[in-house]
Amino acid sequence: MPFNHLKFDNRLRNNLPADSETDNYCRSVENAAYSLVSPVKATAPKLVAVSNLLAEQLGFTTEALNSPEFPQAMTGNLLLDGMQPYALCYGGHQFGQWAGQLGDGRAINLGELVTTNLGHQTLQLKGAGPTPYSRRADGMAVLRSSIREFLCSEAMFHLGISTTRALSLCLTGDQVVRDMMYDGNAALEPTAIVCRVSSSFLRFGSFQLPASRGDEQLLIQLVQHCIKSDYPHLAPASGVFDQQVYLAWFKEICERTCDTVVNWMRVGFVHGVMNTDNMSIMGETIDYGPYGWIDDFDLNWTPNTTDEGQKRYRFGGQGEISQWNLFQLANAIFPLIGEAEPLQKILNEYGTDYQRKWCDMMAEKLGFKHYRGETDLALFKSLEKLLGAVETDMTLFYRLLANIPNDLDTQTATQWMAKLGPCYYSLLDLNDQYIKDLTKWLASYLERVNLDGLSQELRATAMNKVNPKYVIRNYLAQHAIELAEKGDFSEIATLQKILQNPYDDQPEHNSYAQKRPDWARDKAGCSML
Ligand code: AMP
Ligand code: MG
Ligand code: MG
Repeated sequence: MPFNHLKFDNRLRNNLPADSETDNYCRSVENAAYSLVSPVKATAPKLVAVSNLLAEQLGFTTEALNSPEFPQAMTGNLLLDGMQPYALCYGGHQFGQWAGQLGDGRAINLGELVTTNLGHQTLQLKGAGPTPYSRRADGMAVLRSSIREFLCSEAMFHLGISTTRALSLCLTGDQVVRDMMYDGNAALEPTAIVCRVSSSFLRFGSFQLPASRGDEQLLIQLVQHCIKSDYPHLAPASGVFDQQVYLAWFKEICERTCDTVVNWMRVGFVHGVMNTDNMSIMGETIDYGPYGWIDDFDLNWTPNTTDEGQKRYRFGGQGEISQWNLFQLANAIFPLIGEAEPLQKILNEYGTDYQRKWCDMMAEKLGFKHYRGETDLALFKSLEKLLGAVETDMTLFYRLLANIPNDLDTQTATQWMAKLGPCYYSLLDLNDQYIKDLTKWLASYLERVNLDGLSQELRATAMNKVNPKYVIRNYLAQHAIELAEKGDFSEIATLQKILQNPYDDQPEHNSYAQKRPDWARDKAGCSML
C-alpha cells in the first residue's frame, strides 16, 4: 500500500462519546459528540485537482499522490489503516434563530493524521454521502460548489488568512438533481468530493448544542478535549481545569476570530453564511458556500441570494456578526464559568480589539508605518465613503493607489485620473462633487504619507504585501466551473496556480487582475450548494 507511511491517531473519537446507534437514518443524537458512518461508494472516482504543497506538508509521498488508490481514498472508497469515519453532531443559530441540531449532513471525518509539520490534522470528505444529520438532503456536493470550496480555501491560505484547507477535489462519477439557479431548471449535475483538512472541525455550534440541552457533562468533555487537543498551551499541567483556563480559551477564540474577520475585510471576502454552525472553534474560515469577493466596494453587499432582504451577512456587517456569534458561544460555555461578568468583559474587549485591529489593517492597506489615531481614522472613513460613492473596484484601487507618486499634483484631477482610472466601473459616474472630494482626499492622504517619510517605492512594496493583486473574483470561479462541467479542468489548475501568489505581479496573468466584466454584474454567489 502506498499509504503505509501515514499514521492516524483519532483523538476526538477516543476522547468523546459516540452515538450508540450506527445506522444512517436521521435522528436526534444526544449525549454524543458524533456518529459512526460510512462513506457511500463513489462509482468512478477521478482526481480533478490536488494541493501539492498541502499533501507534502501532510506527509503524503509523491508515490502515494500519484497512485491509483489516491482518488479512491479521497472519495471514501478506500479507507486507509487507522481511518475511523464519523460525522460530528452540532447545532447552531441560522440567520439569528436557534435551529437546534444540525450536524455534519454532508461531511464525513476520516481520521486525524499525525504529521511532522502540522501536528494532528483531520481529513474530512465533503459530499461523501448521507449521515444521521442529513435531514432531508442527500449528503452529496455538486461539482460547482466543490470547485468553489477547493479554490477559495486554498486561495485564502495563500493570502495568509486562517482557513480550513483543501487537499483534493475528485469527481465521483455520480450525479444528483439540484436546482440550477441560472435558468431555473432542475438538472442532473455531477457530484464531487473535496477532502478538507483542519486540526479541528468543531464549531461554535458543537458547544451550543449540548448547552441547549442542559448536557453539562458532554459540554465539559468537549471543551476539555478542545483545549487539550487544539489549545495545548492553555491546558493546565495539573490536569485540573478551572474558570481561568476556560476564560483564557474563550479569549483566544475571540482573538483568532477577530484576526480572521479583519483579514476578510482586508481582502474583500464576504463569507455569506456566518451562522454559528459555520464558525470554527479554531478561528478559521470554514464552510465555503455562497461566499463572494467584493468587486465594486459596497459595505452592503452580500453574495447570499437568500439574505438579500435582511442582508445579515453583508460585507460591512461581518465584524458585528462575529461578535454576536461569540456572544452565543459565551452563552453556551456559561455553565463552566458560573458568572456572566468575565465573559461579558471579554466580549466587550472584542469590540475594541476589532476596532483597533481594523485600524491597524487599514493603515497597512494605505501604506502607513503604523496607525496614528483619530486623524487616520477620519481618513479611512472618508475613503470608505468615496469608494462606495461610485462603483470602484476595491482590489484594483489599492494596487493603483500604491503607484501614486508622493509628490503628485493633487490640484489637477487629470493627474490622478491617469493613475486610478482603471479601478472605476464607469468613468461617467465621476461627477464634479466626487472629483472634488477625491482630489481633497488624495491631498490629505499624501500629506499623511509624507509624515512617514517613506519613498513611493517602499510604500508600494509594503502596500502590495497586504493588498492582493489576484483574488478569486466570482466570475473567474464561474468560468472555471463552466469549463469543468464540460470536462475541461485546465482553468481550475490555472486559477489554483495564480492564487498561490496573490500579492505578486504575474504579468502573464494580468487578465485575471481586471475589473469584473459587465456581463458578470450581479451574478455572484450563483453556485452555492
Ligand atoms: P451550511 O449552511 O451549508 O453549512 O449547511 C447547514 C446544514 O445543512 C449543515 O448541517 C449541513 O451539513 C446541512 N447540509 C447542507 N447541504 C447538505 C446536503 N447536500 N446533504 C446533507 N446535508 C446538508
Ligand atoms: Mg455548515
Ligand atoms: Mg453593487
